[in-house]
Amino acid sequence: MEKTILVRYGEISLKGKNRSFFEQQLIKNIKSAIRELGPYQLEQTYGRIFIHIESGNINAFLSRLKLIPGIVSISPVVVAPLDYSELEKAALKIMEQAVVKYPASFKVESKRANKKFPLKSPEISREIGGYLLNNFNNGEQNRLTVDLHRPDYTLYIEIRAKQSYLYTKITAGPGGLPVGSSGRGLLLLSGGIDSPVAGWLGMKRGMQFDAIYFHSPPYTSDRAKEKVTELARILSRYSGKINLFVNYFTEIQQAIRKNCPPPYYITIMRRMMLRIATTIARNNQHLVLLTGESIGQVASQTLESINVINQVTNLAILRPLITMDKTEIVSLAREIGTYDTSILPYADCCTIFVPENPVIRPGLAQTLQAEKDLPVEELSTKSIEKTELLSIVEN
Ligand code: ATP
Ligand code: MG
Repeated sequence: MEKTILVRYGEISLKGKNRSFFEQQLIKNIKSAIRELGPYQLEQTYGRIFIHIESGNINAFLSRLKLIPGIVSISPVVVAPLDYSELEKAALKIMEQAVVKYPASFKVESKRANKKFPLKSPEISREIGGYLLNNFNNGEQNRLTVDLHRPDYTLYIEIRAKQSYLYTKITAGPGGLPVGSSGRGLLLLSGGIDSPVAGWLGMKRGMQFDAIYFHSPPYTSDRAKEKVTELARILSRYSGKINLFVNYFTEIQQAIRKNCPPPYYITIMRRMMLRIATTIARNNQHLVLLTGESIGQVASQTLESINVINQVTNLAILRPLITMDKTEIVSLAREIGTYDTSILPYADCCTIFVPENPVIRPGLAQTLQAEKDLPVEELSTKSIEKTELLSIVEN
């Protein structure tokens, strides 16, 4: 029955003149995220957004919305006319729905923004509270009791200019800024757990990004590529279309094997990835690169290694996961819906390329020495020319 969702957005209302730009961006993103869930009407009023669902499963809407950057919280609401007896009816209906186990305690919290409504906030709370007690209880065994301090349920009532709104649930959204409000980046997207989460965190700060995946057939299978495509598709739910650049990396890996000492394979491979990503970013107006690196997680993620890898680019590299533990990353991956895809067991180009004794703390001078016989320019140019572009949208 609750077929309206109230969407609150906080941070963006702080942004003065930019506010309407941010709001428009948020609305655009909401529309794209819920597009295929069923028909609805979107209403923007009182610095909030209401989504009136015409048909479809409200839970499907809720679980999408709660992950859209810029949204602070959401509530399924019952909308009632500005009439006290209608409030009573709506209150009864929503409490009957909300309470799953009796006896239960509750309180009513009212907010009267519309001063024309005859009852004041405390009066509304008191009256509706009394009405609910009368209707739920029959003398001997009380199903509902009032508890103002630690109630099991709080019924919120908001009296606004044209309607009143009643709800009992407030679900937190990610907060942050709407995707598209703070510039474009290029995400290095592998099939692993980390990089999709890094992308999502970038989105949470308003970034729009495209992705690049380094693919090494036949060492990495079509399934591995499909897996990355699927991850990009999941991310595109929150951001709209993502351009996925698939870079064919096999020749480069073979050249590294042929020309470089094994302990440096990984370091040099990473440097090649970053060089290519940098050129692609420059050609496509991406301001920054994003990776899923986290300090100490694997051999190539020591500070020394990050430093040596960093030297090949003068673009800023954002590493949203840098200080996070694997458990935190995994729980975020589950929340955004990428985890199950990420753990599918298709080898990526790094897992098949790990030498026996990778250098853990590479120095720059030694790395340059190890790289000296690699035709860096030629390899990069050639592989960039062959890069495939896939346009990924959730449908
Ligand atoms: P992930 O879980 O994202 O794969 P990881 O823990 O496996 O990360 P690394 O293998 O060291 O860590 O990779 C570090 C980062 O480099 C990744 O998070 C990703 O941003 C980028 N990266 C690694 N391999 C690829 C690839 N094949 N294509 C695109 N980016 C890659
Ligand atoms: Mg990986």
